[in-house]
Amino acid sequence: MSAIVTQQLLDSTYIVAAVLFILAIKWLSSPVTARRGVLAGEIAAALAVGATLCNPEVVEYKWIIITLIIGAGIGVPLGMVRITAVPQRTALSHAFGALSAALIGIAEYYVGVPHVTRFGMAEIGLEVIIGSLTFTGSLIAAGKLQEILPQRPIVYKGQNFVSLSVLGAALLIMIILIVHPEYSYLFPAMVAVALIFGVLLVTPIGGADMPTVISLLNSYAGFTAALLGFVLNSKVLVVAGALDGSSGFILSVIMCKAMNRSFTNVMFGAFGQVQQVAKAGQETRTVRSATPEEAAEILAAANTVVIAPGYGMAVAQAQHKVRELYDILTKQGVDVKFGIHPVAGRMPGHMNVLLAEADIPYDKLFDMDEINGELPQTDVALVIGANDVTNPAARTDAGSPIFGMPILDVDKARTVMVIKRSMAAGFAGIENPLYYLDKTLMLFGDAKSFVGSIVRELSGGSHG
Ligand code: NAP
Repeated sequence: MSAIVTQQLLDSTYIVAAVLFILAIKWLSSPVTARRGVLAGEIAAALAVGATLCNPEVVEYKWIIITLIIGAGIGVPLGMVRITAVPQRTALSHAFGALSAALIGIAEYYVGVPHVTRFGMAEIGLEVIIGSLTFTGSLIAAGKLQEILPQRPIVYKGQNFVSLSVLGAALLIMIILIVHPEYSYLFPAMVAVALIFGVLLVTPIGGADMPTVISLLNSYAGFTAALLGFVLNSKVLVVAGALDGSSGFILSVIMCKAMNRSFTNVMFGAFGQVQQVAKAGQETRTVRSATPEEAAEILAAANTVVIAPGYGMAVAQAQHKVRELYDILTKQGVDVKFGIHPVAGRMPGHMNVLLAEADIPYDKLFDMDEINGELPQTDVALVIGANDVTNPAARTDAGSPIFGMPILDVDKARTVMVIKRSMAAGFAGIENPLYYLDKTLMLFGDAKSFVGSIVRELSGGSHG
């Protein structure tokens, strides 16, 4: 096959891969087409990697095979983590992606120096800086989410000034290198300063803001890949990186909106610091609790029930029991809907994925904005392992760290029942006044076993 034909074949494969990447993103936006989206993305990635391996410029496969084995050795176990660990797994994927982009940029520089052009240096410099800071930032984010590192923001006086100065130093070195690409002794300093900036960027951010940060790091990793595409003259990498970068950015914006926060507040607000909660008065407050039998009676007597699931449902893996509860209540003529908060759980779409896994019909899942209008006319709001996303302090307490965050208005339902194991706080570490309302009943227990007990009661009380 002539070189021209080979090149044309490779280019066509890359175009097909790019189109499939775009379709994958589109299909992933709805649960109905999500599986097709995943498949399209996998085929696109396989085509892009396969075509690259067939490129005649690849002269030796030994190192490629070795790195492929190492990569698969890390990737396969990472793909098998529990769904609750997916945020930290995603952070690690971003770390690896960014590291590889940064390393390729570094290699490109040393292969090219002293003949690197100024334009080429600008591309490499930006790519290496963003790749390096994304690498260390993502590692810190993964450490915080895995609770290896403290989740609370680590802050000190003048922090923003120090962090921005470090970023300024990295950019200054890059500018000197653009003017004098041959000053290769400055290059390692630029990489080191960018790596340090990644650590400084994420340490002051609290655990509750990690999803937004991860999504932002996802966006950085995507833009690094796009820049790498320019450095390597790879169109498919430019397209895939730009898609990744822009979708990550859009997701961050959506999440900021869902929490009623600005980007600056997320990045520099040190949200989630340990609060000095005013204990006075709280100790005397009491809550009402109920048994599975009582809960079952209340549910059976209701016409409308809205279930608000949260992180606890995911931890308990209660979604299949919830499905049984949905089935039995529906059979008894109760209208059951699910209210899904955009940041319920620990990753965007977390609840949708779990409920879809349990085959709950999609048309019973309602976004927060849709369901909030119905909650005041709802007989029972059943909160299953959700806490922060139902906290009315977000509406009423201007001093609360989550003030302004839109919530599921479960407190407006006629009766509220909350399944959780204790009075412990949720992710943001704050009290939830919902539990002390007269209309609220606490159902203390593990979500899976408590829902299971309610189902048994509803299906005739046979204990088996
Ligand atoms: P949450 O505020 O973290 O509360 C979860 C509740 O579930 C806890 O209060 C816990 O109380 C209960 N729980 C834990 N294990 C349980 C079990 N086995 N059975 C029954 N209950 C259990 O969760 P959320 O209301 O879903 O809110 C999500 C929070 O995570 C928000 O602050 C959000 O900003 C943050 N976040 C979201 C994402 C995202 O993208 N979705 C990512 C990271 C962080 P007990 O210990 O008393 O049982």
